[in-house]
Amino acid sequence: MNTQNSKILLIYTGGTIGMIKDYETGVLRAFEFENIYHRIPELSHLDCVIDSVSFEKAIDSSDMNPRHWINIAETIENNYDVYDGFVVLHGSDTMSYSASALSFMLENLAKPVIFTGSQLPIGDLRTDAKENLITSIQLAALKENGQSVIQEVGLYFEYKLYRGNRTTKINAENFQAFVSMNYPTLAESGVHLKVNKQHLLRSEGRQSLKVWKEFDQNVAVVKLFPGITEKILNGFFDIPDLKAVILETYGSGNAPTEKWFLNSIEKAIQKGIHIVNVTQCSGGSVILGKYEASEHLRRMGIINGKDITTEAAVTKMMILLKKIVFDNSLKIRFEENICGEI
Ligand code: ASP
Repeated sequence: MNTQNSKILLIYTGGTIGMIKDYETGVLRAFEFENIYHRIPELSHLDCVIDSVSFEKAIDSSDMNPRHWINIAETIENNYDVYDGFVVLHGSDTMSYSASALSFMLENLAKPVIFTGSQLPIGDLRTDAKENLITSIQLAALKENGQSVIQEVGLYFEYKLYRGNRTTKINAENFQAFVSMNYPTLAESGVHLKVNKQHLLRSEGRQSLKVWKEFDQNVAVVKLFPGITEKILNGFFDIPDLKAVILETYGSGNAPTEKWFLNSIEKAIQKGIHIVNVTQCSGGSVILGKYEASEHLRRMGIINGKDITTEAAVTKMMILLKKIVFDNSLKIRFEENICGEI
């Protein structure tokens, strides 16, 4: 494996990684990303060519939405033949959503798309931005027998490369900000860069990249909690044009067995709202029917999210709602694995 002569495109969207602190006011502001070599001179030691493009206006990732995902995907599409790999610099807050969305949008992906960011700005003395950025570029540049080693959407943070659509941000302060509870790390950076090849997705066949660009945003996430009332739950189901609910249930997919709850779910499903059962635990899987508290949901036709993250479930649903023409096949398609998310 080597990184020689690889061409990498950095796509800067915003977030802390591209900020510098104004030491007079203490406020963080975006810096000109074209000056990246000035900020990280070590980049010039990498034996690859690095170009960068930036969003017209760098954003805090709290402002991310499907339009931005399309923007990132089109940048990759337009440059796909010219570059060997892509590194997306993104705020950490919603990075798992974007990485999940891109994993579903970039069909037949055979090159690396690595999301990364940082907890401290690049100009900060103790910044984690440098290591995250340099190693992401190295991972994106890795080739073997003329082919990219990583052929999927990954997320690199604090010495670990994860499958993007398996990640969740779990810490607002620690450098170790992400976890992938249900899938092993794809690579680890220590004294050596260790790639766990057995866990990587391989692109099948020689089909060319296809980019999906349509989203249906009529999706809600509802988290169950002891004490949730009929009025509150039905309030969601009564939202005009609502097409799907990602229902965060307890443990292995359990939910109240009270009559009002079952009636609300049943009525919503009959109305045509797709309901996906995902667990609010960060690790483990929904096992419909394991307890009586989930068996009734199974019988009603709730979609089994299995071990998918909420981030991946939301973005997969937004895409499948546009992609699947016949409503009755959406459940089957959702429960199938598309790109390693289940
Ligand atoms: N608020 C920032 C963002 O997500 C935090 C970060 O960059 O990590 O854009």
